[in-house]
Amino acid sequence: MGKCELCGKEGSRLEADHKELGRIMVCQECWSNLYDGNRMTCSIGASGGSCPCCR
Ligand SMILES: [Zn+2]
Repeated sequence: MGKCELCGKEGSRLEADHKELGRIMVCQECWSNLYDGNRMTCSIGASGGSCPCCR
């Protein structure tokens, strides 16, 4: 538990590798926004390569 580093909302957070901000902890909502906007560097793709930004 903690505060989202983007919107400040408290709750469970997810780790995101933001392209400009680096590694940050954000809420589910902000994580989805980052993901949809392709604003994360891809750490998911390292394991499977299934992420659209890594292809
Ligand atoms: Zn947030």
